[in-house]
Amino acid sequence: MTYRVQQLRALEILDSRGRPTLQVTVALGDGSVGTAGVPSGASTGAGEAVELRDGDPARYAGRGVSRAVRNVTGELATALVGRSWEDLGALDRAMIDLDGTPDKSRLGANAIVGVSMAAARAMAAADRLPLYRWLPAGDVEARLPVPHFNVLNGGAHAPNRLEPQEFMIAPLGAGSFAEALRAGAEIYEALRKLLADRGLSTGLGDEGGFAPELSTPEEVLDLIVTAIGAAGHSAGPDGVAVALDPAASQFRVADGRYRWSPDELLSSDELVDHYAGLVERYPIWSIEDGLAEDDWAGWELLTARIGDKVRLVGDDIFVTNPKVIADAMTRRVGNSALIKLNQIGTVSETLEAMAVCRSGGYGQMVSHRSGETNDAWIADLAVATGCGLIKSGAPARGERVAKYNRLLEIAAELPDAPYGPPATGA
Ligand code: PGA
Ligand code: ZN
Repeated sequence: MTYRVQQLRALEILDSRGRPTLQVTVALGDGSVGTAGVPSGASTGAGEAVELRDGDPARYAGRGVSRAVRNVTGELATALVGRSWEDLGALDRAMIDLDGTPDKSRLGANAIVGVSMAAARAMAAADRLPLYRWLPAGDVEARLPVPHFNVLNGGAHAPNRLEPQEFMIAPLGAGSFAEALRAGAEIYEALRKLLADRGLSTGLGDEGGFAPELSTPEEVLDLIVTAIGAAGHSAGPDGVAVALDPAASQFRVADGRYRWSPDELLSSDELVDHYAGLVERYPIWSIEDGLAEDDWAGWELLTARIGDKVRLVGDDIFVTNPKVIADAMTRRVGNSALIKLNQIGTVSETLEAMAVCRSGGYGQMVSHRSGETNDAWIADLAVATGCGLIKSGAPARGERVAKYNRLLEIAAELPDAPYGPPATGA
């Protein structure tokens, strides 16, 4: 079976932060149609595929994506429309070749990933399969992922003084995805009450977590553990664990040290020590971007120190790039990768990065971006690849819960699919 592309359409729409992004539609010759919304990050890794923005200060402070829209309906359409494609890999490859740059900066990774995601949807529709069944994810068992709810926001996603970006809760011990979602929502509600009782703000950051004026990460961890208990759940690996994404590249200062909190400036070695201590004191099971993307020596040290106890997830440092992940495996850097479609820029390369993780025993967590649309594409991706872990922000705000609600639908369709990551892998 081949897929003949009949039409590409694109719109400049708004993301969840009120900034422009793309919505792309691919129509096939048999009448099948797929639409996708393109996410956008705020704390991006230097090695990410490049979003094309207009740079015209008269529109959206330079953030318009009208050129990317024109690249979809112009050059990309000219190359893809009227041709029959054997599979998504062939279509993605044609876009990569047409762009001709290593970082997709000419046509824009936002344009290319939008076409790739929409094409996957259209091809799945042509084959009359839900996306999670259709995605060519290799010979893996479909699994429902453990949701990592970002309940408290700092860093680049909130106006408070907190340096670390994300404080997440992960209901590892829940019996099912639906039970995990319930736990997440109950703890979120308990945390709201705790904050209000202490006279702290319950206003939200970009990913739907609370963004109170706390300044030390330890205060936040204490609050979260209290909220877990107050909601009637138990904190720990058999109940609800805690996951951090400090996004440390964002708080590394000029001399190479890290501003962990307003009063603490730590060297890379000291921060590694600090994490080792936190893991003893709090039910932390996962740390993403604990060190900066260019601090590979620090990452090696951290991995040697606590890599056998804790998931050490590379986001900015790996940028969903199969080659970088393979390199990290050789150097024993981290033990898991964060997976974001728009970091690498096509669905096929994303699936390749996940296959590299599987072959090397690295864990994988599928992820949203801080700027999102209501598209729940990543929910299907997480299930199809059987990786067992997802993060999509708080259990609140439409663009975040769109993914969790889609997972509820899939869970209802797959009552026998296991919950959580496979036993093998980090
Ligand atoms: P971003 O942040 O989407 O703003 O890049 C998400 C993350 O760091 O995981
Ligand atoms: Zn991150």
